[in-house]
Amino acid sequence: MKFFKKPEDDKQENIIGELRQKIAAASMPETVQKITEQELDILCRISPSSAEYTIGITYIDYLLSLPWNKKTEDNLDIARAERILNENHYGLSKIKERVLEHLAVKVLIMSRKARILVVDDEEIARKNLAHVLTKAEYEVATAADGQDALKKMDGAPFDVVLTDLKMGKIDGMDLLNRIRIRYPDTKVIIVTGYATVPSAIEAMQKGAFHYLAKPFTLDEVRASIKQALEKNIVMTNTKGSVLCFAGPPGTGKTSLGRSIARALGRTFTRISLGGLKDEADIRGHRRTYVGAKPGRVIEEIRRVESANPVIMLDELDKIGRDFKGDPASALLEVLDPEQNRAFVDHYLDVPFDLSSVMFILTANVLDTVPAPLRDRMEVIEFSGYTQEEKEKIASRFLCPKQIREKGLPHDRVVFTDGSVEKIIREYTREAGIRNLERKIATICRKIAKDSVEHRDSADVVRITPEAVGFYLGRPRYHLDVIEETDRIGVATGLVRTEAGGEIIFVEAAKMKGTKELIITGSLGDVMRESAQAALSYIRSNAEAFGIPDNFFEHHDMHIHVPSGAIQKDGPSAGITILAALASLLTGRPAHRDIASTGEITLTGRIIPVGGIREKVLAAKRAGVRTVIVPVRNRNDVDELDEDLRKDIEIRLSDSAMDVVKAVLI
Ligand code: ADP
Repeated sequence: MKFFKKPEDDKQENIIGELRQKIAAASMPETVQKITEQELDILCRISPSSAEYTIGITYIDYLLSLPWNKKTEDNLDIARAERILNENHYGLSKIKERVLEHLAVKVLIMSRKARILVVDDEEIARKNLAHVLTKAEYEVATAADGQDALKKMDGAPFDVVLTDLKMGKIDGMDLLNRIRIRYPDTKVIIVTGYATVPSAIEAMQKGAFHYLAKPFTLDEVRASIKQALEKNIVMTNTKGSVLCFAGPPGTGKTSLGRSIARALGRTFTRISLGGLKDEADIRGHRRTYVGAKPGRVIEEIRRVESANPVIMLDELDKIGRDFKGDPASALLEVLDPEQNRAFVDHYLDVPFDLSSVMFILTANVLDTVPAPLRDRMEVIEFSGYTQEEKEKIASRFLCPKQIREKGLPHDRVVFTDGSVEKIIREYTREAGIRNLERKIATICRKIAKDSVEHRDSADVVRITPEAVGFYLGRPRYHLDVIEETDRIGVATGLVRTEAGGEIIFVEAAKMKGTKELIITGSLGDVMRESAQAALSYIRSNAEAFGIPDNFFEHHDMHIHVPSGAIQKDGPSAGITILAALASLLTGRPAHRDIASTGEITLTGRIIPVGGIREKVLAAKRAGVRTVIVPVRNRNDVDELDEDLRKDIEIRLSDSAMDVVKAVLI
């Protein structure tokens, strides 16, 4: 028992008193407020010098710092949104269209007049209620009993049904049951007299949204309807609405996400999933751990001080490599509209409503994304840019941006014709434009340094193709295909990797041995199997290739795909491996500028593969003249833009033997 009050006690009382006021003013949901107050009550009883006290205070401070009810107002002007997307991004017209459609649906849902049905057997009551609700801008219909109501609902369900309980024919309770089965999205509000309140409560247990006991005020009706509608809007608004941007790096996924946030007037933030190692990074640590922290989602919401930001979850495909726990289920809790309305972060230990957050996921490839997640996303594919597109983006966006960012006056640096083209061709090899932007940044930085060193000079700096060489040094890339000779046992192929399309050179070698197949070059299981299939095809058709009968008895085969540091997988190199082997075993060189892609079967057919657009782009970057793709990829080929098909021949084939004939000289 305490006899004297110590100065620390005063201090503690002050702190607690202050927190109590803050809790009252934090506009938390009722349950959260109650729990926070209980936590505070516990703190009053423990010593301020104990560890629990500090943990408790930190926890309450954290709860108080969250934007429970703080949202930015959405700007739903679609024309303006379109302007903003165009301002920052060249091309991408299909993608912008999809994004605008997505936003338009949102606008329609938000601005649609809600439909309300008033059911009452007393005409006066019915008319009065209908009159007030119409004035409150709802679309209102009336019905005299349950049967009449069901007839009116046929074909055009209502958002909210306000119904009396006691009526002739089908009564309120019966109506409720039928609505629950036939129109599960419709919210039912029971209107009841004092005497029947117990039945109204029973109705709530059976799934009614609310009840209003007569006499009620107009404000009560309005508030109750508003609540019901809000629930409905959140439901429809979020169903399947997680966008996923998939495509190679540097194709504008992040910057488009940023523009969407700007168009909507929301704050924007990014979380890189690739860096997360543990479920606790998403769901938070339990408070009992030393150094416990909330998960990243809650952290970001606190940081941007808004409960409805656009959150971009980057690198969805990188998650899970050495992840502790189940990342898919943790993410579903965050993303799934059915679950995220009451997302419980382990640190918070109270639900936080994530349903107004707009999540956008990004990934380079979708193959590794778990199916339950993929089902909930609306995937928008981003693809690499052509040379022409890159040049346009550079001159309209990247160059002006870098000149500005390096502090140079906008008219001080001029990139002349051909300079950007040279940077793209000789200093970058990528599907997107990340490195291109870096190279332009390097040039601008060097000019900035020069201009600081020679203050007096205010001359315009003209970047010619020669000047590019001066600033960036020796070219990094050359056209691998054209500048080398055709060789025996080396075939050109196209595969898809995380970075977009990629050109590969499959090498085959033979040596004395015992029928072994050696495969090297960081190839995944699927690609290894393709190699085996290719070899089996050749062995079973040895005669057609002119290979002596017992050749394989005394030889080992080695297949190698250089650039061993890059992981390669997938079935699409099958036909190229076959071409390399055929070249080796027939002694005929393979055309280096003919690149093939396609999965082969043991019977020598070619099966379609993915990523045709990315592969054609990669072929053009490397200077390939002819691309051979499976016949059944015809649709993908037809979809390629004119621009992309210029200067390259695309051949379709469904026979492995034909491809071998075309590739070998
Ligand atoms: P990603 O997220 O796909 O890796 P980013 O959004 O980071 O790519 O894009 C890299 C850079 O390229 C950014 O500076 C971005 O503004 C720019 N960029 C990409 N696509 C376009 C485009 N279509 N028009 C203008 N700039 C673009």
